[in-house]
Amino acid sequence: MMQKNHSLKEYEPVVGAELIDDLKTMAENIDGKSVLHVNSTRSGGGVAEILFRLVPLMNELGLSASWDVIKGDQAFFEATKTFHNALQTGLNLASQRNFDDFERKTNENLHDLKIEGDTIFIHDPQPAGMIAQKRIGTNQRWIWRCHIDVSNPDRNVWSFLARYVNKYDASVFSTPSFARSDLSVPQFMVSPSIDPLADKNKDLPRTYIDRVLSKYGLNSDKPLITQISRFDYAKDPIGVIEAFKLVSKHIDCELVLGGSLADDDPEGAEVHAKVVKAAEGRNDIHILLIPPFSDLEINALQRASAIVVQKSVKEGFGLTVAEALWKSRPVIAGATGGIPLQVKNGLTGYLVHNIEGAAYRMRYLLRNPDVAERLGRNGREHVRQNFLITRHLAEYLLVMLAIRRKEAIPLLMPHPK
Ligand code: UDP
Repeated sequence: MMQKNHSLKEYEPVVGAELIDDLKTMAENIDGKSVLHVNSTRSGGGVAEILFRLVPLMNELGLSASWDVIKGDQAFFEATKTFHNALQTGLNLASQRNFDDFERKTNENLHDLKIEGDTIFIHDPQPAGMIAQKRIGTNQRWIWRCHIDVSNPDRNVWSFLARYVNKYDASVFSTPSFARSDLSVPQFMVSPSIDPLADKNKDLPRTYIDRVLSKYGLNSDKPLITQISRFDYAKDPIGVIEAFKLVSKHIDCELVLGGSLADDDPEGAEVHAKVVKAAEGRNDIHILLIPPFSDLEINALQRASAIVVQKSVKEGFGLTVAEALWKSRPVIAGATGGIPLQVKNGLTGYLVHNIEGAAYRMRYLLRNPDVAERLGRNGREHVRQNFLITRHLAEYLLVMLAIRRKEAIPLLMPHPK
């Protein structure tokens, strides 16, 4: 879906003119102005969403930024999906064939896609092998930008990948807990971000929110508890239902589990079927299949909620948390991945470790709306200061400045020599 891109000036009322001026100063001081981002998909997923908004802003700052996508085939994407799962779970899932398929398609991409630019951002493992095009001995700099949790990876896949990553000039991870002690290149920490002006996050009129509630058959008189997520075991939707069932014995409220179902993800359909079964016979639990590109509707559901839940047991960064906090919603979320950066326990929401903990906090917030309101207020400010796209852009510019300096590269995070 094509959404409007906003100019930097439009962000001033949200983040202040000073940050926008800083962005301009940083961009002016970068000695090589061309920037290329490379990932493996133009649409779908948080990386594409962020690049779609970030690249025009970089251009507005006087850089010459562009975005290329490597090509994959079924065998390649099967390999990279297996790598993704092995890296995030630590399980030994990859076969020799996966490694061969990865190398074969990487070689084809090296032949077909010419990488040009002063700073090259390679996003995630899929295009990591493009590093073979690095022009050694020139001023060109390559950054491997990792969006996934590689803190406890399967050894085989990680050592295969690290052979590529160690050839880069730097790596960037989303949270300190994802950092690696066995990389020989500098590691920077840059969290992802949300765009406050995007359809997913912008202010909405109450009339529109009410229309979305009635479209999905939701009762706006009762407090809504909502989790928006892909139907994925890592998001623990069944755990959310169990917690809700404990709460609803005491308080009249409704639960919404909203998410999409990709045709090519058999696990999604399986999880969805289990979720529907767990909610059987309950008219206070709503399992909503939300079509892709429903940003305004998701925005409305988040805004209509008394509490937003993200009870993940495994998470990358967890953009849904930032989205909810930005809407001043109190968030109850699993203490995993990037969530603890966003949910400061007792300040912007509550971190939970199990179903009982989630139920306890749901009850507490429904009984104490003043606390819910305070958490929501703090949450919006926390996101304003830390997780908006303008800060994200500033940190990318800082990384570029740091690695393009002629003298020694400063390390923002310790790593072994
Ligand atoms: N999302 C969506 N439709 C859905 C479910 C999720 O647009 O049906 C969005 C959600 O609003 C967020 C992103 O997809 O922007 C999910 O990012 P997150 O980091 O929370 O989880 P991931 O899916 O990347 O594991």
